[in-house]
Amino acid sequence: MARTPAQPQSKGKPQSKGSGGGKDAAGKVAALSRILRLEVDTGYKDRAVIGGLDRFLQLSADQLQSALGAIKPYGALAADERRRWTADLASRIESSGLAVAPGPSRPGPRSDVRGKKPVARPAGPKARGGVADLKIAGGIAKHLSKLEKLGIRTTQDAVRHYPHRHNDFAHVTKVSQLEHGKEQTIVATVWEASEKRRGPRSVSTQAVLGDETGNVRAIWFGQGYLARTLKAGSQVVISGQVKTFKGRHVFESPEYELLTGQEELVHTGRLVPVYPTTEGLPQRTMRRIIRAALKPGLAGIQETLPPDVRRSETLMDLTAAVTQIHYPDSEADLNAARRRLAFDEMLLLQLAVLSRRRKWHEEADGIPLSPKNGATGGSMVEAFLGSLPFALTRAQQRVLGEITTDLSRSRPMVRLLQGDVGSGKTVIAIAALLAAVDSGRQGAFMAPTEILAEQHFITVCHLVTGGQANLDPDEASAEIMMPNGGTVTIALLTGGTHKKVKDRLFAAIAAGDVDIVIGTHALIQDSVDIPNLAVGVVDEQHRFGVMQRAALTEGGLRPHLLAMSATPIPRSLSLTVFGDLDVSVLDEMPSGRKPIKTRWVAPAQRDSAYDFVRTEMEAGRQAFIVFPLVEGSASVQARAATEEHERLSRDVFTKHSLGLLHGRMKTAEKENVMQRFSSGELDALVSTSVIEVGIDVPNATVMMIDGADRFGLAQLHQFRGRVGRGADQSYCLLLSDSTGPDAAERMRIIESVSDGFELAEQDLRLRGPGDFLGTRQSGLPELRVASITDTTTASRARRVAVSILQDDPDLKAPEHRVLGLQLSKLLQAAAPSGV
Ligand code: ADP
Ligand code: MG
Repeated sequence: MARTPAQPQSKGKPQSKGSGGGKDAAGKVAALSRILRLEVDTGYKDRAVIGGLDRFLQLSADQLQSALGAIKPYGALAADERRRWTADLASRIESSGLAVAPGPSRPGPRSDVRGKKPVARPAGPKARGGVADLKIAGGIAKHLSKLEKLGIRTTQDAVRHYPHRHNDFAHVTKVSQLEHGKEQTIVATVWEASEKRRGPRSVSTQAVLGDETGNVRAIWFGQGYLARTLKAGSQVVISGQVKTFKGRHVFESPEYELLTGQEELVHTGRLVPVYPTTEGLPQRTMRRIIRAALKPGLAGIQETLPPDVRRSETLMDLTAAVTQIHYPDSEADLNAARRRLAFDEMLLLQLAVLSRRRKWHEEADGIPLSPKNGATGGSMVEAFLGSLPFALTRAQQRVLGEITTDLSRSRPMVRLLQGDVGSGKTVIAIAALLAAVDSGRQGAFMAPTEILAEQHFITVCHLVTGGQANLDPDEASAEIMMPNGGTVTIALLTGGTHKKVKDRLFAAIAAGDVDIVIGTHALIQDSVDIPNLAVGVVDEQHRFGVMQRAALTEGGLRPHLLAMSATPIPRSLSLTVFGDLDVSVLDEMPSGRKPIKTRWVAPAQRDSAYDFVRTEMEAGRQAFIVFPLVEGSASVQARAATEEHERLSRDVFTKHSLGLLHGRMKTAEKENVMQRFSSGELDALVSTSVIEVGIDVPNATVMMIDGADRFGLAQLHQFRGRVGRGADQSYCLLLSDSTGPDAAERMRIIESVSDGFELAEQDLRLRGPGDFLGTRQSGLPELRVASITDTTTASRARRVAVSILQDDPDLKAPEHRVLGLQLSKLLQAAAPSGV
């Protein structure tokens, strides 16, 4: 590090072996030739090479001068002077005999250095097809399995492997101008690079790099081998964040690119693509492969959009867009390319969603329900609604109307019911199920957890009769006399149901002796034959795949499906991911509800939070205490909750009785605890996150969430929704020992926002769609460029999709042919068994 020259060029110091030699000069001249051609093609903007032409000339001054004589600076010239300068230099190159003259680009293959084909030129149209045919330096064969891993088999795949970002090599910073903390790019010479060891495991490469303005250090942790790659004297492009260490600038594990082949000098001289890649396939190799695939790949691209759509939506043509997304001419072109490609993805998604919806509606045979009155008059639905201790909200009435209309149709209902926690979805579900019974059919009520399934069983029994349900696991069924003279037989099926009982229930269900089956999704979908199923309700579920599978269990006729979700789906997603569902919204809370007061409690206030809970319990009200562990196996969670239950009973709430609820308890135990809590025998329920959904105990007024920072917004809102169901003021206390910035933001949001829809938007914003949705949606195209939350593009694409399908529902017209092909491929891949 001691003798690092600061001004290499001015001293005429050799920069690489053989500098000035004839062979090297030929290489530099060929490179210059290509740069000039690109410069002409791109309109003399001095963007053909990193750092500008002058920089290139300076770096290669020795070789170029020996071959071509002195060259004047370019950067300061006006446009037409630049043209003359370029033409002059071109003719000198021509007469040097070292490379062909650089003119404006012409079609057809070119050879830049005599007798030698340029490396990066694609192999030509003959190579169309497999990537195995691509010619790249070092051969393609050894990369094929890695490419395969990335889903790249053909040149078509390769051109559709879009960069996830670009390095802006058009803006190169001089070393002396580097600023701390900014993403910057330099073009520099490696003065020294060495491997440093700080122990058996800790290896790094440290390098000193410089340009004519100064030197800077770079360090790559864990990459000792780099010292051998970064040979002294080689030219590199370094890109990354600049930090300051002991008062000096340093790049920490920056991206680097060796400027070896001259073609790279040309190609990196602007916005350079950075691709998603996989281990063992370096960025440079990836770039080289895709570069090689571009020409044959682009030749195989067919325009998907009819010209009128392209015009009305002002979109770039597809070949241009794909070209520009890899090697954009400018930031504006990159954006235009992204806009076009995003539109294509959204359009395909909308076409898929709309045709799936049409298929469902037109091709499937549903079961039109026509209720019959009972012996003493009236239907079960009417009897049920009449026996409720409250009147339906206007929103409930409206939604029930929408559902009733659907159920009377011969096409199966596929409806999503959205309603904030506590908006009264269960009543709607029961009414829909009873409508099936009114028509002599069966209904199924599916819940995500056993506890919730059990709770629904109780709720149904309770709401319908005002009495108690038989929850003996030896029975797990109830027969209910309805005020209209009919009877309803209900069965509960969970993992905890005894095998003997289960077998008996299975048989009864199959024989049609059970009217309503309540249970967990998994159990009902996987193992129960419900021959007369007419209405399926999926609670706390907003994933379409589940409904789809639920429907497929039915052989001939499709049941009506109602999915209920308390995690409101942001509008952006209801257009895209859920675009094939009909949606009903309960946008009104039952009257008399007081907003829940939510407080974020600082760690030091823990004791006063306990005091508060105690006061509420002394006033006869009840509390949920949810315990932190989110991760970890069910048994780890159970143990943690158990310990906390002991601690709180022993040290904190000594005069009160605390119940314990976790996922590892037997069904009968869980039920017992829930019963005792519902009846008021227990003052508080210490629980894992199992109580997240559905549970309904109106006398509970406090929800204390310990370790609230570990839960997402939607989950916190669900927890909070367990209280505030009665007449008393309810509270949600958020205890959080960690106050990282993300957690703090979530706490502040949940404190101030009580509306579930707004929270969902915030949640989506904070977590991104992947996490928000939990799993990848089945049957939807992958979005590489488009963002699922981009409502603007989604609605434009939907409009276009609707109008295309209106005139040409099967996409048979010539201008829709390519779209039609893509769509049928997608639908085939998506359908689990021919939906
Ligand atoms: P969620 O939509 O979260 O599933 P529930 O269906 O569990 O909500 O309803 C929450 C509570 O509100 C229950 O105790 C239920 O009996 C009650 N409820 C439902 N509808 C009404 C209404 N129209 N008026 C008053 N209370 C209602
Ligand atoms: Mg519910």
